[in-house]
Amino acid sequence: MTNKYMYFIANWKMFGDIKSLNTLDKVIKFSKNNNNHKFKLIYCPPYTLLNLFFKKLKKTRIDLGAQNCHQNENDGPFTGFVNSKMLKKIGAKYVIIGHSENRANGETNVLINRKIISSTNNGLKIIFCIGETLMEKKKKHTKKVLKKQIMTGLQKVKKLKNILFAYEPVWSIGTGIIPKNHELENNVEFIKHNLKRNFKIKNPIVLYGGSVSPKNINKLKIVSSIDGFLIGGASQKSKKFIDIVKKTFN
Ligand code: PEP
Repeated sequence: MTNKYMYFIANWKMFGDIKSLNTLDKVIKFSKNNNNHKFKLIYCPPYTLLNLFFKKLKKTRIDLGAQNCHQNENDGPFTGFVNSKMLKKIGAKYVIIGHSENRANGETNVLINRKIISSTNNGLKIIFCIGETLMEKKKKHTKKVLKKQIMTGLQKVKKLKNILFAYEPVWSIGTGIIPKNHELENNVEFIKHNLKRNFKIKNPIVLYGGSVSPKNINKLKIVSSIDGFLIGGASQKSKKFIDIVKKTFN
């Protein structure tokens, strides 16, 4: 950890219904009983649960985030979409932008850049996901890809301090495979170096995401340049989510 907090961000993807709200009870209790403020927990449920999560998390230290948003800063005729202004109004503090599952659906670096600008303008903090595909890794293009994602994604972005970065190798998401520690350290350092040099961000916050679980957290936490974790599958079960946090500090 190189920053004040270790971040643990739960990305529920397209999972969860009203019943799954009960999962929060144990996490809320855990957070209350461990308020040493060394960690920040953030839940990013699907849109349909944002309001219910907001009500449940209102009086806790746990923050709320959304999983994506439309690039338009203001309301408009865009059927099926939600913008960052709406997310802010409903109580979200963060929004995930650039997740590889959305990149795979056609989101380009340019579109992602527009989303980052409109969301920061509307007062949200961004969880900006970057990472290479397996093919790009095999071709040894990882650094080139990361640099392009950063350079285009952050073009003309003013509120850089409101951005957390999540390094998520695409081949690691949902596969159970995690990078080797030296590989991870090297890529996280590369990202931080770029952010410092090209964007003058003094203390960039860079998380790791991809198959994080209670089983591999002891290995991952050794990588000291990592400032937290973006957790998909394992975050849907309170026990697993809590175990990851506990093991990080033990
Ligand atoms: C994610 O959705 O960002 C993610 C890292 O998923 P998982 O932990 O399931 O690999």
